[in-house]
Amino acid sequence: MAEQEEKRDDKKGEKFSIWDLPDVPAKLPPHIEFQRSRVLCNLDAPIHTENVTYGGAYASMGVDNSLQLDNFRKNFGVEVIRLTKEDMEFDLIGIDVSIANAFRRILISELPTMAIEKVLVANNTSVIQDEVLAHRLGLIPVIVDPRLFAYMSENDTSNGKNTIVFKLHVRCERGEPRMTVKSNELKWLPNGSELLLESKPDSNPESKPRTYTSFSCSQDSLPEFSNNPISPMLDITIARLGPGQEIELEAHAVKGMGKTHAKWSPVGTAWYRMLPEIVLLEDVEDEDAEKLVKTCPVNVFDIEDIGNGRKRATVARPRACTLCRECLRGGEEWEKRVSLRRVKDHFIFTIESTGALPPEVLFTEAVRILEDKCERVITELS
Ligand code: SF4
Repeated sequence: MAEQEEKRDDKKGEKFSIWDLPDVPAKLPPHIEFQRSRVLCNLDAPIHTENVTYGGAYASMGVDNSLQLDNFRKNFGVEVIRLTKEDMEFDLIGIDVSIANAFRRILISELPTMAIEKVLVANNTSVIQDEVLAHRLGLIPVIVDPRLFAYMSENDTSNGKNTIVFKLHVRCERGEPRMTVKSNELKWLPNGSELLLESKPDSNPESKPRTYTSFSCSQDSLPEFSNNPISPMLDITIARLGPGQEIELEAHAVKGMGKTHAKWSPVGTAWYRMLPEIVLLEDVEDEDAEKLVKTCPVNVFDIEDIGNGRKRATVARPRACTLCRECLRGGEEWEKRVSLRRVKDHFIFTIESTGALPPEVLFTEAVRILEDKCERVITELS
């Protein structure tokens, strides 16, 4: 065998082995590369959905599939598509789905916010029970930067560094129509609680009466809040009061995370989808082109004029594709003409903020937490 492998170079008269030949460029055959990088969405079900992460998966083809830092740096990108006060859409390009999902989970459950945790009800004659009222109040986002506050542990007392106090006192007078109580009625108490604790019989009658919090100074005297008063998200309905009904309470907000309770989650939702890729495998012209354009409910396709009164369908807005597969339902031939795909390492990410923090701040904070986690893993491994 060894002799067969050896060949004689007639010109130089030297022996060499096939192992001395230069390497073939390490590249996967197109159909394997397609399976590795795309999900194919057929009419019945998607295929090639798995992610091949094993570094030696294509070793037999001479391709190194391991994660290379240089390649990652070259391919990775973040492109902001839309940024408003409430939400943000951006593309995460060149990452594995596990990282995109880690980012999503951090946004939902590991970014701290301030939320109402304790409700002291002084009077409630409305039809809403105290506990339901407390639950509703807990879900109202508090617009304040949580980085300015400390977590409150079990043994801590409520103070100006770990608690925000709001007061709600509303009454629907007799003879008046029913009234709606909105979150706008929650008034910030920068000096802390105004409800008095019961004093012990032996306590000094001249000492200052004790309340449910002990603030050393007024929160609105701090530079962070002097021009930027703390408020709840406005215009959220808390209760409806009939004539003669009244609610009087104090709500104490503390710092927490969504993994403890959803009320601390800073996002309504954070989600991603893979980038749609729609390919017309053959020209779709004239009546068929019009039919294709009409079948798509989100106007992914357009028609272009190709001269001589003829028309051709084009893919104009692939990002809008919702994968409803209507364009494949026209019969078997359409499955051969239209190919619906998803790019496995390109994610369209959306962050919808509750309003507690702007979406771009949520993004940067989530990146910081992800970075901290990576550093912890590296430290533990080294
Ligand atoms: S799958 Fe639905 S949304 Fe996407 S291109 Fe086809 S018809 Fe349009």
